[in-house]
Amino acid sequence: MTFSIHGIPVARGIAIGRAVLVASSRVDVTHYFIPPDQVTEELQRLGAARDAVVEELQRLQLEMPKDAPPELDALLDVHLMLLQDELLGAGVRQWIRERLYNAEWALITQLEIVSRQFDEMEDPYLRERKADLEQVVERVLRRLKGAATPVAAPPPRAPRQHDLLLDDTIDVPLVLVAHDLSPADMLQFKQSVFAGFVTDVGGKTSHTAIVARSMDIPAVVGARSASHLVRQDDWVIIDGDAGVMIVDPSSIILAEYGYKQRQGELERGRLARLKNTPAVTLDGQRIELLANIEQPEDTAAALAVGAVGVGLFRTEFLFMGREGKLPDEEEQYRAYRAAVDGMHGMPVTIRTIDIGADKPLDDRRPDTHLNPALGLRAIRWSLAEPAMFLTQLRAILRAAAHGQAYVLIPMLAHADEIRQTLELLDKARAQLDARGQTYGAIKLGAMIEVPAAALSLRLFLRHFDFLSIGTNDLIQYTLAIDRADESVAHLYDQLHPAVLRLLADTIGQSRTRGKGVSVCGEMAGDPAMTRLLLGLGLRSFSMHPSQILAVKQEILRADAGKLSAWAQAVLDSDEPAALLGQ
Ligand code: PEP
Ligand code: MG
Repeated sequence: MTFSIHGIPVARGIAIGRAVLVASSRVDVTHYFIPPDQVTEELQRLGAARDAVVEELQRLQLEMPKDAPPELDALLDVHLMLLQDELLGAGVRQWIRERLYNAEWALITQLEIVSRQFDEMEDPYLRERKADLEQVVERVLRRLKGAATPVAAPPPRAPRQHDLLLDDTIDVPLVLVAHDLSPADMLQFKQSVFAGFVTDVGGKTSHTAIVARSMDIPAVVGARSASHLVRQDDWVIIDGDAGVMIVDPSSIILAEYGYKQRQGELERGRLARLKNTPAVTLDGQRIELLANIEQPEDTAAALAVGAVGVGLFRTEFLFMGREGKLPDEEEQYRAYRAAVDGMHGMPVTIRTIDIGADKPLDDRRPDTHLNPALGLRAIRWSLAEPAMFLTQLRAILRAAAHGQAYVLIPMLAHADEIRQTLELLDKARAQLDARGQTYGAIKLGAMIEVPAAALSLRLFLRHFDFLSIGTNDLIQYTLAIDRADESVAHLYDQLHPAVLRLLADTIGQSRTRGKGVSVCGEMAGDPAMTRLLLGLGLRSFSMHPSQILAVKQEILRADAGKLSAWAQAVLDSDEPAALLGQ
């Protein structure tokens, strides 16, 4: 039966494919694709873990004290039986062979399928065996954990997809459906085969959504119970423009969306022709279009759409998911240098680590503070860990010797934080001098993403070479709306008069002082906002490469001079959204 689920659109386009459910509630289960030539090894790893659990249970039975309740022995029998049951085993092996899932992922995928079958059983005794099945799988997962060999990169080509439930073989795109995915999980899926994403939770500018957007595939977040309503391998359509997922579509609906998908591809083809067209408005204003990146390799995507530099390199992605083993100076230097080299002399703005809130260092240890977004995040964390911060600053300074590197500091609000940052930067230089190591000149920028910063611009303009407005956090903190919480996503309003006032002042005052100013939050990559930002005087936009051509198209059609009077009217309005036709 066809039904639809509504969420928040985060990345454009239509995807049609089969659902792959990722049970992210089991946070300690890794999900990755194994290379095709490692299938046998992975099956052996699974088999060894299962055999070890069988042995463990048999030993428990043997060593059971005489006075132990007889139910215990019977229970272990049930567990042993479930462990050897082919419904579980054959399914798991099939996910490994056919879809190239790692053993843990295959296990929990099959667990879910078998669990549903248990749920549907009439007999209450049998229904309750689901809990036993879960316990058995947990045991195998624990065994696997010790022997896991995660593969960082997914296989170089898409594996052959198979229809596991109908037992015939067809090639189909896969769509990932999960309750939640951490930004690090998302990054792991970045070069993989998925054609689209849906998550139950998240807001438009949550970091998971941001990484999804960088993948340039249709994505919907905040779809609430999607991961419960969709079943493994269901046919689904993701409409990333409308924020809708259609489950089990009829042939008429499929045909309609197939048409929409082709139209989208044609539009992309048309936009691609703008790659080498200079971003100049009708009245001759030259606009700088920069890229936001998460990894040095993303510079290729930036160049492919004609970006003239990197306006935001979110370096925290180098630090995430490493179980406490942070990258040392050499590793960081290589990463920053790769980004600088990758842009061939164009500027690369390297933001110092912005860890915390919805970007925990380690997903397995999420921030348990009551208000993590207001806690030890970004520069606060760096200043609390000066040795780590100095390491990062030295690595960036060294990379700056090979091109144009700018340093950008996130979440600043206090004069004292600015002072400490400047002192540490001087110290990093002094340490490099003492080692006799070469480093380059940098420009230093501050992110304006805390309202307090936007309201004390004089201080920032005195100390920094340029400012970069992080609208994602600026909106979150101005409106007191958690950017990652779908239940308040309708209140996350980028056109709130207070937000626009802070934006206008930051752009205006920077320009008056002759300092560079750019927007690097998601607002810069939203073509519906381009005209307004131009009207407010913005001349530098930084966004994911996937957005650059659509924004450029808006710029080519705009008259910046005429837009400034209109932008003033928007600023003076109590309901600016109405003036933007929203
Ligand atoms: C922002 O807050 O707008 C920003 C660009 O930083 P991040 O999204 O990484 O917090
Ligand atoms: Mg931010």
